[in-house]
Amino acid sequence: MASQEEVFKKIVAHCKEYGFVFPSSDIYDGLSAVYDYGQNGVELKNNIKKYWWDSMILLHENIVGIDAAIFMHPTTWKASGHVDAFNDPLIDNRDSKKRYRADVLIEDFIAKIDEKIEKEVQKAAKRFGGNFDEAMFRATNERVLQHQKERDEIHERYSKAMNDNDLAGLKQIILDCGIVCPISGTKNWTDVRQFNLMFTTEMGSTADGSMKVYLRPETAQGIFVNYLNVQKTGRMKIPFGIAQIGKAFRNEIVARQFIFRMREFEQMEMQFFVRPGEELKWFAYWKDLRLKWHKALGLGDGKYRFHDHEKLAHYANAATDIEFEMPFGFKEVEGIHSRTDFDLSRHAQFSGKKIEYFDPELNKSYTPYVIETSIGVDRMFLSIVCSSYEEQQLEGGDSRVVLKLPPVLAPVKACVMPLVKKDGLPEKAREIMNMLKFDFKCTYDEKDSIGKRYRRQDAVGTPFCITVDHDSLQDGCVTVRYRDDMKQDRVKIDDLRGIISQAVDMKNVLRKIMD
Ligand code: ATP
Repeated sequence: MASQEEVFKKIVAHCKEYGFVFPSSDIYDGLSAVYDYGQNGVELKNNIKKYWWDSMILLHENIVGIDAAIFMHPTTWKASGHVDAFNDPLIDNRDSKKRYRADVLIEDFIAKIDEKIEKEVQKAAKRFGGNFDEAMFRATNERVLQHQKERDEIHERYSKAMNDNDLAGLKQIILDCGIVCPISGTKNWTDVRQFNLMFTTEMGSTADGSMKVYLRPETAQGIFVNYLNVQKTGRMKIPFGIAQIGKAFRNEIVARQFIFRMREFEQMEMQFFVRPGEELKWFAYWKDLRLKWHKALGLGDGKYRFHDHEKLAHYANAATDIEFEMPFGFKEVEGIHSRTDFDLSRHAQFSGKKIEYFDPELNKSYTPYVIETSIGVDRMFLSIVCSSYEEQQLEGGDSRVVLKLPPVLAPVKACVMPLVKKDGLPEKAREIMNMLKFDFKCTYDEKDSIGKRYRRQDAVGTPFCITVDHDSLQDGCVTVRYRDDMKQDRVKIDDLRGIISQAVDMKNVLRKIMD
């Protein structure tokens, strides 16, 4: 069986071969950690965004959307804390000349100890069979206890160094743990330095002097600076939310894992403004609802887990990640944060404007508290493609690659194909295309054998193939072939719209979230 790493390589290659994701400026050999979405990728991405947008804007009458500019007044980023503190600690290996995030090196080392513990537990579970008492084993086994002790000590030193911004302390942990560069295999490390992740550029003509501006590293601040505008013009009453989808930019130190960590990416963020003191109730509400949003797609409930943050940002009083099981382990796809009144207060302070809400029920004014849900479109895209990709061996020695995308998100919903390119079958197929194209993204394919055409559609995840044959001209029926089980049905042309709609209508998935 192929290793997860090999599978992931195949998925990346598949994304390119079938027009989902291309390296940026490919003819110039690409640009590191920047990608373009191709003809199928853009459809899948747009469908993901629509699913998120509709789940916020249609299902909640107290949530509205905005589309703020990427450039913002530079003071925004002073107020938000990004100019001073949006840093990652970086370290270089002098021999390989490779650059790493010091925190990631240490976290990976801790994860390896965790793996060792799990292996001991699994080995023992096998040995003892049905009588195995896992809790007892974890509490008493010498080797497990030793690993656990080592883990806890490193973790404690690591948390403290991160909290205290102690860069020498981080380096010392790397040295003490004997962490080596995976390329050179040596411990010849430089000191740890802070590296700001924001991109800058210049705005304005040089004659007047120009102003340094930032490419936004998150979309959230566009929402905070518009809080007053939206609240007033929309006559919004607390609790209410503002949602936004847009590009964000981070000069990531180590960009790897394809579209998981990009330098230009897209976020879908919603800031929900609540009464102070009610934030933890709303945090729990959004935690639950966001997980339902993910699960309603049917990728498998076991693929998600929450990772509650132990180390909170100084302004947060609760935070969790929704992690998804990627081929390279459980990874963050979405963050849910209780940000207190930090952002609005800071913008009030830096702008000199009063940013408050008068609550008629309490008859007083206050700075609202905020719950944020923040998800990366590209990470969501990656999680969907990874969990949908399947290589199947079929009867008769044949094989296929199928993308079992949730039909509601599939780039193409149906492919219409005439059995042969003559006898009036292409005309009939075109007629069907013309009937369906107002409701669904459809393609037409008349080249090669039917088998080859099916394979092409399987590879891009098209849920329905519709074949027009000679009988169709007489009986007004066509053959529908389903992507996942490859079964075929003879159905009336007039029923096609209903059959496809049942499977791909977003309403059906949205309803599941609110069940
Ligand atoms: P990480 O710890 O992986 O760097 P983060 O905690 O900094 O992520 P947030 O600032 O909470 O991420 O951003 C919210 C979401 O934006 C993340 O859950 C992720 O889906 C997405 N995201 C963040 N950085 C990137 C990136 N470089 N490339 C693609 N998506 C990203």
